[in-house]
Amino acid sequence: MPEGDVLRLTAERLDAALRGSPLVVAELRWPSAGGARLEGATVTACVAYGKHLLTRFDDGRTLHTHLRMDGTWRVHRTRPRERAAGGHDVRAVLGTAAWTCVGRSLGMLDLLPTTGERQLLAHLGPDVLADDFLRTGIVEGARRLVAQGSRPLCESLLDQRPVAGLGTIWTAETMFATRLWPWTPTDALGEAALRDLLATAHRLMGRSVRLGRTRGLQASEPSVHGRHRRPCPRCGTPVAVGTANRPPYERPIFWCPSCQRGPD
Ligand SMILES: [Zn+2]
Repeated sequence: MPEGDVLRLTAERLDAALRGSPLVVAELRWPSAGGARLEGATVTACVAYGKHLLTRFDDGRTLHTHLRMDGTWRVHRTRPRERAAGGHDVRAVLGTAAWTCVGRSLGMLDLLPTTGERQLLAHLGPDVLADDFLRTGIVEGARRLVAQGSRPLCESLLDQRPVAGLGTIWTAETMFATRLWPWTPTDALGEAALRDLLATAHRLMGRSVRLGRTRGLQASEPSVHGRHRRPCPRCGTPVAVGTANRPPYERPIFWCPSCQRGPD
C-alpha cells in the first residue's frame, strides 16, 4: 500500500502537470461522482495529506482520492484525439492540453466542496510529512500516540488517527532506526521518546521523497521491510516478520530480533 512519501511525490507530479491550465478532458468513473462535470475547470493545487490526495479546482471543488492497496496516478503527455485512457481499472482521467493524469484502481474517490476538506480529514492525526511537522504536528502526534495506551507501537503507528502517513514500510523502518521492539506498549515510551520516534519517521520519509524526485517512486532501499530472513544491515541477524492488527486487518511487520529486542 502506498504510504505518505509516495503520496507526496504523486501530488507533486499531478500538481506540476495540471496546475494552471483548464481541463479539456475530465472523467470520473465512480458511481457517486460519474455525472460530475469538470471540463473547463482549472486545477489550483494538488496536495497530499497522509495517504489522501486532494486536487483542488478553481470552481470551489476538490477531488479527493485514496490509492488504498493498488491505486496509482500516472502522468502522460496528452495525445491528439486520445480523449481518455482505456482500461477497466481506470477510475479518473484529468487532462489539460499538455498533460493527462490517469488514476487506476483507486480505492476511494469523491468530489466535495473545498471548504469540506477539513471535515473530510478531521479523523486523521497530523501529517508526518507536513513542512511544519517538527514544529507543531510532532507534539500533537506524540500526545495522540500516548492516548493509544498499551496498544502495540506498530499498530498505533499504522492507525492514521494518531499520526497520518505511515504504512507497513515506514512503521518497520522507523522502529528499526530507533531500535524499538514493534510490540512495545505505546504508552511505555512517554511523549519525549515518541517525539524522537516521530522525528525519525519524518526524517526517513522526507529522505525518501527527496530521492524519489530524482530516482522515481520508492527509490530508497528498506533496511528491514520485505527482507525476511536476510541479514540485518546493522548486526547480521536474520530479519524476522510478525503481525500487526487482528484479522482481517493484519499487516506484516519486519524487524531485527537482536537490534529490536522485546521482553524475554
Ligand atoms: Zn540487527
